[in-house]
Amino acid sequence: MKILISADMEGATGVTCPADVLPGGPQWERQRPVFTGDVNAAIAGLFDGGADAVLVNEAHWTMRNLLLERLDERASMLTGRHKELSMMEGVQHGDVDGVVFLGYHAGAGAEGVLAHTYLANSITGVWLDDYPASEGYLNAKVADEFGVPVILVTGDDKTIRDSRWYAPGAVGVAVKDYVSRYAAVCRPPARTAADIRRAAEQAMALAGRRDKAVNGPHRFEVEFDAEHLAGAATVIPGVSQSDERRVAFKAKTMYKGIRCFKAVTTVAAAAVEEEYG
Ligand SMILES: [Zn+2]
Repeated sequence: MKILISADMEGATGVTCPADVLPGGPQWERQRPVFTGDVNAAIAGLFDGGADAVLVNEAHWTMRNLLLERLDERASMLTGRHKELSMMEGVQHGDVDGVVFLGYHAGAGAEGVLAHTYLANSITGVWLDDYPASEGYLNAKVADEFGVPVILVTGDDKTIRDSRWYAPGAVGVAVKDYVSRYAAVCRPPARTAADIRRAAEQAMALAGRRDKAVNGPHRFEVEFDAEHLAGAATVIPGVSQSDERRVAFKAKTMYKGIRCFKAVTTVAAAAVEEEYG
């Protein structure tokens, strides 16, 4: 069985502040091997549990964070940007039997370490079919459309609580406990690695492709912290302003919807001014 790991960084072991996850700085360099350690622990557990192939899809920022030279040699890694399905790249080819959300985090505005949805600060809320949607929620709906179950989620305790909503059957591992958006009670990598490995082995019991399930059409609504970002996003065909700081659009499938959402975030990000937002 082949398992896809979608690896984000905010929910990795020890990560609590922007400097930990912003590429280029010394603190980010320090966290890269720790993040890679979380991924390796998951890979080891998945193979313990019967996986015979693991693809790691880098899902954070520039999507160049993990250390390939330290990666478990049984796995492969998709690194770099501009991918058809971004954080969920690899789920769409019909050969994946389960997906792991590793290092995930809570959604914009919610309690959670480094909580956000796609944009670090400019997006204040996302709704899918009128339900509040974190990245995990959106990505689980994409996986569901391709018949792929979410089998394991790692992140802070708030992330695991959020995953109960979108993947109630998945195994959850909290690698840290939320104190504030920029503080957490952390456990050392040796301990979290043992927890992740054990959970990944257990999670393999949940792997197995189902029939593809297109449940669309879907309605996306995105709220920004400033009106001009909503206005900027309306250049995208089908995207309209639904309120002063909100845009909305409809999509027949999650595949199309998540791609349009990506376009909305990209255009809005380009309209953000450095100091005023
Ligand atoms: Zn991230």
